[in-house]
Amino acid sequence: MTEKFTGSFTQQDPIPEAGIDAALAVLRHGRLHRYNTTPGELSETALLEQEFAAYVGAPYCLAVASGGYAMATALRAVGVKPGENVLTNAFTLAPVPGSIASVGAVPVFVGVTEGLTIDLDDLEGKLDQARILMLSHMRGHLCDMDRLMAMCDAAGVTVIEDCAHTMGAAWNGVPSGRSGAVGCYSTQTYKHVNSGEGGFLVSDDAEIMARAIMLSGSYMLFESHLAAPPIEVFADIKYDTPNISGRMDNLRAAILRPQLADLATQCARWNERYFALEKGLRDTPGLAIVERPEQETIVGSSIQFLLLDWSADNVNDVLARCAARGVDLKWFGAPEPVAFTSRYDSWRFAPSTPMEASDRVLASIVDMRVPLTFSLEDCALIARIIRAEVSAVYQANAGA
Ligand SMILES: *Cc1c(COP(=O)(O)O)cnc(C)c1O
Repeated sequence: MTEKFTGSFTQQDPIPEAGIDAALAVLRHGRLHRYNTTPGELSETALLEQEFAAYVGAPYCLAVASGGYAMATALRAVGVKPGENVLTNAFTLAPVPGSIASVGAVPVFVGVTEGLTIDLDDLEGKLDQARILMLSHMRGHLCDMDRLMAMCDAAGVTVIEDCAHTMGAAWNGVPSGRSGAVGCYSTQTYKHVNSGEGGFLVSDDAEIMARAIMLSGSYMLFESHLAAPPIEVFADIKYDTPNISGRMDNLRAAILRPQLADLATQCARWNERYFALEKGLRDTPGLAIVERPEQETIVGSSIQFLLLDWSADNVNDVLARCAARGVDLKWFGAPEPVAFTSRYDSWRFAPSTPMEASDRVLASIVDMRVPLTFSLEDCALIARIIRAEVSAVYQANAGA
């Protein structure tokens, strides 16, 4: 009998009951705008910012309308200028180069290693081309952050971290988003907490955060924030900074606060599922596991494996066979962008030259989401299906 998987790769956990209750309370009082409070009332948004700041150990936090908005706001707040180069990962998702393009700046792509992190040797050679690095921790893979920060500090390059896939992760115990000048996070449905849309910025830098708060559309109401720099920091910034509205609202904040309180538990559940999949896939002929460094605290909300040097036809064959058995895999190597996958050379608004070693890696990346609605048995079954289909194609082609 051929086993099939019948679950959904896009079904997340429901919103916790405490979040539903808090959302209903906001709906009943009607004060959804973050600055619409009664005397003495602390808004859900201000409380969420305070709680997220504490969670990552940052003095300052701003909640905003999306992760992409957080990244564009970070770029503006560090002073990026139109036409300026911004270094970023070749292996990432479209909102990352999009955030750079949204401020009129120009992405300069840096290669990817077989560990699926930014190629630090390639970065070293490109550090003289830009003042800013938008570092994407794509699919949760953290590079050697100690080496990266030492290189960027020495070159005077400001690092902004895209932590859309690393909320809850850490390098050498330092939470993702706390090494660079700004950490940006997403609270969109497919990330680690779910408010439909939403995001955060965190920083230690008072001026950057004051600018970000003004940019987000705080008018002169920033005094009601609970994770903002002191009022004096806004003295000139409040006159000099344009309002580019993108605030978080109290309804989303109410949904997020109980999820943030549960995040450590959820991260542990993701990792149980991730390591069950990894165990089931290990030692499959032709398939390379992406090994995780011991310095990395992971959140396994998705898993990748490599089919290195396989032909496109054989990779497509694996995807089709797995899909026929209910397993929805994505291939980052497809020449045409499909669903959320695309390659640096499909972002034609940004100039790029081919990077041979990175192209070999990108052509091999197979990706799968790991929703928490999967059981551990589901993960074992999915791994059996992938193992069987990869092995069948590999053997039929005597080495794919
Ligand atoms: C989702 C995502 C973002 C942006 O988040 P949104 O909240 O959807 O704007 C940024 N970077 C990566 C790698 C993402 O996957």
